[in-house]
Amino acid sequence: MDRELVQAIARFFSAALALALLLSAPVWASQATIDQTTTKLDLRSELTWQLDEHADQNAVSMFERVDAGSFKTLPAQGPTFGFHDGAFWLHASVLNRSGSDQRWLLVLSYALIDSLDLYLRYPDGRIEHFVSGDTLTFAARSVSYRHPNFWIDIANGEDVDILLRAQSRSSIQLPLAIYSPGAFAEMAHNAQLGLGIYYGVLLGLLLYNLILWLALRDANHLWYVLHLSGIGLLSACIYGLAFEWLWPQSPWLANQSVPISIALAQLAMHQFARRFLDLRHTWPLGDRIAKAILAIYAALAVASLALPYSTAVLIGTALVFPGAIYILIEGINAARHGFRAARLFLLSWSILLLGAAVYAMVSFGVLPKTLLTEYGIQIGSVLEMFGLSFALAYRYVALRSENERIIHSAKTQLERRVAERTGELQSALEQLADANARLRQLNRHDPLTGAYNRSHVNESYERMLRHVQHDRQQLGLLILDVDHFKAINDNYGHLAGDDCLREVAKRIKSQLNDERSIVARFSGEEFVILAACNDWDEANAMAELLRQQFAASPIACQGMSMTIGVSIGIHLIDPLMPQTLDRALTWADRALSAAKKAGRNTVVRSDAVS
Ligand code: GH3
Ligand code: MG
Ligand code: MG
Repeated sequence: MDRELVQAIARFFSAALALALLLSAPVWASQATIDQTTTKLDLRSELTWQLDEHADQNAVSMFERVDAGSFKTLPAQGPTFGFHDGAFWLHASVLNRSGSDQRWLLVLSYALIDSLDLYLRYPDGRIEHFVSGDTLTFAARSVSYRHPNFWIDIANGEDVDILLRAQSRSSIQLPLAIYSPGAFAEMAHNAQLGLGIYYGVLLGLLLYNLILWLALRDANHLWYVLHLSGIGLLSACIYGLAFEWLWPQSPWLANQSVPISIALAQLAMHQFARRFLDLRHTWPLGDRIAKAILAIYAALAVASLALPYSTAVLIGTALVFPGAIYILIEGINAARHGFRAARLFLLSWSILLLGAAVYAMVSFGVLPKTLLTEYGIQIGSVLEMFGLSFALAYRYVALRSENERIIHSAKTQLERRVAERTGELQSALEQLADANARLRQLNRHDPLTGAYNRSHVNESYERMLRHVQHDRQQLGLLILDVDHFKAINDNYGHLAGDDCLREVAKRIKSQLNDERSIVARFSGEEFVILAACNDWDEANAMAELLRQQFAASPIACQGMSMTIGVSIGIHLIDPLMPQTLDRALTWADRALSAAKKAGRNTVVRSDAVS
């Protein structure tokens, strides 16, 4: 990556494809001349070449062919020859007309050539030989630089023949240029900037996604990081950086790392696509195919350690395209099924594919090597990396809002259920309260007459005492017994007797004015009345009124009208000297017995009973 890359990126963004292709058109000239102002000579326009099919020619015989004029001008796409077993010989002659002796650096701006032999023939017939290429260790280079290079000394007025023999198992590209030391430093400096931007972006995205993976534990980020690492490693290999910085001692790794990084980058990308597009659920058949592709790349990564470089690279490169098309199909499939993040994924992937396709076409000699085409893979990968990062973020946001929607709907559902259950519980409680109230009612009442029962009197006695005490009154206790009731049963039947008891209860209640008064059926035809009284006279008057009422007006039972008599025993309780209920009842009962003895239909006070 050099200054041209920076320009190429700018051109890519302005989409001036046509212009870029135009710029790449070769220009023909015969001899390169160095004058006082020359700092850089691009030899592309000066080069002639010859293929040494069996790689068995030597420099002397090749110089003879140069002299015989049998070297050809370069093909239209420039010094790009694709994969070839033979050796390529390139020739250019350089004339120094600068007025001073010069030292120049010949640079081959392509890192993957295995072996390079440079032969310099001086006017006196002397031939010097230098070697380079990535089958030698990095230290063998004239200048410690990612591209192979050679120092060339040209005396003033001297004409030097440059003959370069190149042989490689990788794609053969031979863009040659010579630089003055100053121009080389400037070019390398600018290239450094381009590389810095590229790897800065890559490293930034890599660390960012690594942190996201650590924080979110979403494996998509990890696979994306591995894909980025693979792409970064591959480009570092292609541009000679991996050899320069990672394994300068190992020409073997400098070569094998290319197919290995191709396999690893593809492996991670396929796995990323598989996970990102959730193939397992959205397209099970596609998922199985993707797994098979993963297995193939894993096998290739391992096999690359043992396979010859050219075989491994050819297999790797050949697999890239079907694999890439398959990822494209996965993306289209997911997008068609409404997975929105898949569109961004597709766009990013297509851009990388375009860049890679252009790069591959350059490697195979189909497209000319231009500023744009040479760095297509870099430009494409930067755009792809950004795009995929966006796609990941988009997917995360989509997942989050989907989660929120699920939580929200679960919450509303839960709230509705809780409201339903609360309602049901409420009504159950109300029913229970009703039932309890009814039960309590039943518990305190006599079922036949509807009057209170004995237990209600027991419960209410103390309270009645407190009330009368508060009102400075006394509590009257009356026991009323129907006279000769048995005769009613005997004469008219039990049902008539029951009816009669109901009527008696009703009449007693209707006679009592104070609503706090209590009428209870104690047993058989015996009723107890608790009522507030000021004194014995008032209690007596109340009882007397009752007795008279019964004696005076008949009651209606079962369509019959009968006059009944009642006997009443009265007791008066002073709340300031309270008695137990049992004691009070005993006194009232005594009075009642006295009333019966006195001939019935009469009222007797307990204080009159000895
Ligand atoms: P006395 O004047 O001495 O009170 O005579 P009595 O017949 O009223 O009193 P006794 O105690 O001899 O008889 C009460 C009768 O009341 C006996 C029983 O059959 C009847 N009796 C008790 N409870 C009920 C009831 O719930 N329904 C009906 N129909 N009769 C009842
Ligand atoms: Mg009786
Ligand atoms: Mg009785």
